Amino acid sequence: MIAWLLTHAASTRFAVVAGVFAVLLVLQLRMPRRGDHSAPGRYVRNLSLPLISAAIVYLLLPLTLVGLATLLAERQLGLFNLLDWPPLIELAITIIVFDLAIYWQHRAMHELPWLWRLHRLHHTDLDFELTLGLRFHPFEILFSLLCKALVIAALGAAPLAVLCCEILLAAFALFSHADIRIAKRWDQVLRRFVITPDWHRVHHSVHRAETDSNYGNLLSIWDRLFGSATEQPRDGHLGMRLGLDEFRDEASQRLRGMLMQPFLDATTPTGKNDKPHA
Ligand SMILES: [Zn+2]
Repeated sequence: MIAWLLTHAASTRFAVVAGVFAVLLVLQLRMPRRGDHSAPGRYVRNLSLPLISAAIVYLLLPLTLVGLATLLAERQLGLFNLLDWPPLIELAITIIVFDLAIYWQHRAMHELPWLWRLHRLHHTDLDFELTLGLRFHPFEILFSLLCKALVIAALGAAPLAVLCCEILLAAFALFSHADIRIAKRWDQVLRRFVITPDWHRVHHSVHRAETDSNYGNLLSIWDRLFGSATEQPRDGHLGMRLGLDEFRDEASQRLRGMLMQPFLDATTPTGKNDKPHA
């Protein structure tokens, strides 16, 4: 079974994440939080980005992350390949370390100008709903894969643990961007441990202090621990504006403008430019 899953890692991951997407889509349609619904073209553009990224990754990278973990296991490289710890302990540590690394990767993308250029596209969306969880520039996807590869190499993470991490993190990237109404008392319980849509929506606010907070992907502890947590948006969840003031024009929202984001200088009426968004 495990061997079959690892042989079909890409299709397994796609099937599970597509299933999560379908469930969240139904929930979003049945119980929307804000009802962020824009032109149909936005959905097509957001959904086309992961396809473009997948093609570029397939052409440029010689190995998948699971493939890298398999190679490291065969050659007995990396921490866990030198130790003999129970697989479940290794899995738990792999998930926690992956999530911590992604927290700092995300934070660095807001604080370093050249990385902000790669990440900025994700923040130009004027809506907050499910497909925003897929709206990443191919360059950001490549950079993120390289960061994850470093974590896998250091840990010597097991191939199955890597597959679990990829699925879990992708599922939470979708969940945290879904426009789903969760009862306040449940949101309060959930956000003690994990990122909820209400928690992450703050990160997409037009207000810079809010954008530069709530970086977490899966666990909310990192934002609390490293002082970047904002519990609620100052304008309220229903009243808050989303996106970046620099890129609200139609051209920025077209696919060409989206793909050109890393090369654009953000000159704005307010005088902001492409300085670090911190
Ligand atoms: Zn961000």
